[in-house]
Amino acid sequence: MSGSTTQQNDLNNNQNKTNKCFKVWKIPGKGYGCVATEDLEPGQLVLHDTEILHLSHDYKFKEWYLRGERLDESCSAILFRQIFVIVSILLATYFLPYIGLILIFGVQKIWNDIKNVRSKLNYQKSARELLLGFNSLSSEDQSAVCSLSSTLSTPPTNRPQQPLVTPPTNKPQQQQSESCVMQNIIAVFCTNSFALEDGVSALFLHASRFNHSCRPNCSFVGDKQNGVFTISIRVTWRVRRGEELTISYLDSLDEGGPCTTQDRHRYLKWGYRFACNCTDCTMPKIERYRTDAKKQKLQQLMDEWRTSNNLQLDWKNIKEQLILLVQLYGCGKPEYIVSTLDIAWNTYQKVDGEDDIELEKVLAYIALHWCNIIYSSEHTNFKLWTERLQNLNNDQEFMS
Ligand SMILES: [Zn+2]
Repeated sequence: MSGSTTQQNDLNNNQNKTNKCFKVWKIPGKGYGCVATEDLEPGQLVLHDTEILHLSHDYKFKEWYLRGERLDESCSAILFRQIFVIVSILLATYFLPYIGLILIFGVQKIWNDIKNVRSKLNYQKSARELLLGFNSLSSEDQSAVCSLSSTLSTPPTNRPQQPLVTPPTNKPQQQQSESCVMQNIIAVFCTNSFALEDGVSALFLHASRFNHSCRPNCSFVGDKQNGVFTISIRVTWRVRRGEELTISYLDSLDEGGPCTTQDRHRYLKWGYRFACNCTDCTMPKIERYRTDAKKQKLQQLMDEWRTSNNLQLDWKNIKEQLILLVQLYGCGKPEYIVSTLDIAWNTYQKVDGEDDIELEKVLAYIALHWCNIIYSSEHTNFKLWTERLQNLNNDQEFMS
């Protein structure tokens, strides 16, 4: 999400509101990015940013945008087709003998069209919400949004070339400029926004300057304070002065997420239009194969765990997952280590015949270590693990 036409000085000045431990700087082959101006330790907060725009429910907004969907396409044509299909079914039922087959085909067709209309309306609703949000900003904030990178402004290369907004040939001047503004805002939003919890996507002026790495040295956490979305970026692995600060744009371990090098490249090319050349993507081929194999194994274990009903097998499975996750640096997101430790904790409590307090303490200590780095000691996750550890210590004292 690096900017190509960035107002570098303005950004570095505005950054005083947050943190001075990095600067927005030109990165060879990447445009702009954030570079550490001092040595940074894991857990250090490098940025706390407040949203400038958000979509309250993105309805796979980016996916629809990248599919080259037009915003002004009328849904009446699709509705008219539905009526046509229904009339055809009624006529076919009356005149033709193979009613069952035709009905199945017809019902399927109508259902697909209904889904299409609903998604299209949601897409248009989100675009309007975005434009309304943009119009309510001050002119200074509007220019700041427009200065962000918009690598997705050109139509997708793997889809038929189709304008995102109908070329405004005969439209009044005001409508023309509104279409162009909307197109630009959507491109900027889709290039730079962060997917937060509960389907919310938000745009942050400073956080959007952080480039991607499949093995990043920082991670981000979204939050909501008094109805406003915020994001915190913290260091996860030690950073030296002059090193670039990176985050991961991928959710590799989510169900069907881009996990192997090939999948990650395909996803980043599609969703962000760049070829990643991070440490993970440029390591020797043999090492890359080994890492990819481990990631695939991890995904396979997660799939098996989702469908399993056997607690003993689950516990064995989760132990394997934890070992792989630590070896793979959390697959770009240490939150995966914390969430797996939570699953491990809950599973272990239910497994019959297992009561090793020392092992539970190890789980709690590792979780506390990572919660402190990713979320800080004020976060509910840190407090939860502190309480668990405290209970274990109390149990041990009581037993002795
Ligand atoms: Zn990479």
